[in-house]
Amino acid sequence: MCGRPIGHRVEWHHPVPKSRGGRETVPIHPICHRVIHRTLTNKELERGFATAEALRAQPELARFIAWVADKPPDFHAPTRRPKR
Ligand SMILES: [Zn+2]
Repeated sequence: MCGRPIGHRVEWHHPVPKSRGGRETVPIHPICHRVIHRTLTNKELERGFATAEALRAQPELARFIAWVADKPPDFHAPTRRPKR
């Protein structure tokens, strides 16, 4: 999603949530994975964010991607709780 190379630590993201019948998975950084699921519910992911392009266009994720762009692939940090 973020466009950085994948490092040693890889997680697998379901573009369509597993609970919604999604079978396909894509490799993703653990931190990116965390941020996606912090930002969007499974219902939102299923309805409008099943592609990397859609995720990158989401304002909060776009801000995260700009921030993480110069971090190394295995960079990880505690992520903040959603402010809802
Ligand atoms: Zn990433």
